Amino acid sequence: MSMFRFFEKLVDPYQPYTVSNTPPRLLWPFLQDYLAPFKKIFWFLGCFSALVAAIEIVLIWYLGRLITMLSDTTPTEFWSSHKVELIVVAGFILTLRPIIQAINTLLQNNAMLPNVGTLVRYRAHRHVLGQSVSWFDNDFAGRIANRIMQTPPAMGEVVFQAFDAITFSIAYLIGAIFLLAEADSRLAIPLLIWAGLYGGLVFWTVRRVGPASEAFSDARSAVTGRVVDSYTNIHSVKMFSQDNQELNYGLEAIEKARTTFQYEMRLYTLMDIGLVALNGLLVVSVVGLGIYLWIIGSASVGVVAAGAALTTRMNGMSGWIMWALTTVFRQLGVIREGMETISSPIDLVDLPDAKPLQIEAAHISILNLTHRYGRNFGGLEDVSLEIKPGQSVGLVGASGAGKSTLIKLLLRFYDIEKGIIQFDGQNISHVTQDSLRSQIGVVQQDSSLLHRSVRENILYGRPGSSEEEMIEAAKKAEAHDFILTLEDPEGRVGYDAQVGERGVKLSGGQRQRVALARVILKDAPILVLDEATSALDSAVEADILETLYGVMAGKTVIAIAHRLSTIARMDHIVVLDEGRIVEEGTHESLLKEDGAYATFWRHQSGGFLATKKTNAV
Ligand code: ADP
Repeated sequence: MSMFRFFEKLVDPYQPYTVSNTPPRLLWPFLQDYLAPFKKIFWFLGCFSALVAAIEIVLIWYLGRLITMLSDTTPTEFWSSHKVELIVVAGFILTLRPIIQAINTLLQNNAMLPNVGTLVRYRAHRHVLGQSVSWFDNDFAGRIANRIMQTPPAMGEVVFQAFDAITFSIAYLIGAIFLLAEADSRLAIPLLIWAGLYGGLVFWTVRRVGPASEAFSDARSAVTGRVVDSYTNIHSVKMFSQDNQELNYGLEAIEKARTTFQYEMRLYTLMDIGLVALNGLLVVSVVGLGIYLWIIGSASVGVVAAGAALTTRMNGMSGWIMWALTTVFRQLGVIREGMETISSPIDLVDLPDAKPLQIEAAHISILNLTHRYGRNFGGLEDVSLEIKPGQSVGLVGASGAGKSTLIKLLLRFYDIEKGIIQFDGQNISHVTQDSLRSQIGVVQQDSSLLHRSVRENILYGRPGSSEEEMIEAAKKAEAHDFILTLEDPEGRVGYDAQVGERGVKLSGGQRQRVALARVILKDAPILVLDEATSALDSAVEADILETLYGVMAGKTVIAIAHRLSTIARMDHIVVLDEGRIVEEGTHESLLKEDGAYATFWRHQSGGFLATKKTNAV
């Protein structure tokens, strides 16, 4: 099978390339960009397809010659006078022709097809992974995935048809015209007229097929988007008994897909009817004209036979070519739709001269930060805050006050609209994103885990850590003992057990401990706690808090919390309201001040700060 391997390895789909944040947004440049590594293969393929077509034509021409030869000689003389020629032709058909055909197929099926799709999918996925969080927030995961899935095969199909059918057919048509013209130039006339009409039909069809297919493809991506949205949120769907509502939601998209598909299929039916009519015309005119020429004595039987064979063959082929052409344009429509995702520019990028962030003390300074998500309300407004190395700061405020926004900006999930955030004097917008995020450990309220093993989830904190380091982290997070008892349905146990999508197979407390182990392993100098324990019941929470305090030691900490037990222990407390800092100080000083914080405190219930708007102010 080294023959296959040779062809399969001609192009490496994972070869290095210049990564761009702004891939081409127009169809041709886009295709050229992605298909550039296949240029050489395309040249070879073009030549071989033309060669294969030429051989076909020559064989048909030879059929005519054979018939003429048969009718011109007697059976006894035939073999002796033509044997050399016949043996050469038979030898060619038995050896050279299959070899040429085989190389052509190997180039198409083995060198090109599997690699085109793979290259496109790999690069597209890589590009999409580079998109910012907000880019993902603005789309359906299912729709994005659908485009990543369907664009590569569409691309493969376009190139395949381009060589398999189109190059071949053009070569064939040219050959056929020559052949007929050589036999009798008058026979080429109906063929030329037919070719003109056929071209017209092709033009009519492909102009409509592209947009129709793009619309259908878009509708299909929307179906995936909606369906996947329902499945990933199945807990909410069931909780609210909304199966029917979800079905209708999906149905709307499914119906849109049907109508767009119906329109596309109408085009194919019309094309088909036109094609059959045209082909009838071709057969009748070429064969009829041939017979007429034979009757008036200006053509041989061989010419009529070759004409009949050629038109019958073209009759079959024209349908195939038409289909190939429409396939190309249909798939171009799919590609154009996929490009909306694949060619979407990445707008949150590292500066060209971005350096890695260097953290020594983990001093955070936030200067006049304003970020309103491109609107004139919401978000944060002119926030300034100094967080000293090793200090812990609690953020308090009603929901919508801007706490999460501040944290997202610290992680540079968004580019800051106005103001600066500095870590140890370095503007976080000027350092590389990877280095920035590698210095921040985040524990969230509902840490979602990856649908992989416990080990992979913990190692996510610092890939390449040793088994001992990982277990050490799990022990510190008090996760080691329960991890050892885990077993998944496939019988994998302990650290190898799979946690289910987003970690659904673990209890809230267990999930939080695995997430903590991940952050402990990461051992970043800055720690962000985003309602880290809010999802847990009090007993578990108290446990986890103790662990957390251990982790916090020596780190600069920013915590959003509603729990008094967490907040009261912070060195510094900042109260946010409608995006502004309204108070700051220690727990004691804020109580003394008797402002918003004191109100939250007075209205506390069950160990929570009463940050609901109605209670608070
Ligand atoms: P908190 O975490 O205090 O509850 P947030 O920071 O989530 O508050 O939200 C602060 C304000 O910013 C809210 O008014 C919210 O509507 C707005 N906001 C948050 N995220 C976005 C977003 N991705 N796009 C637009 N507005 C947002």
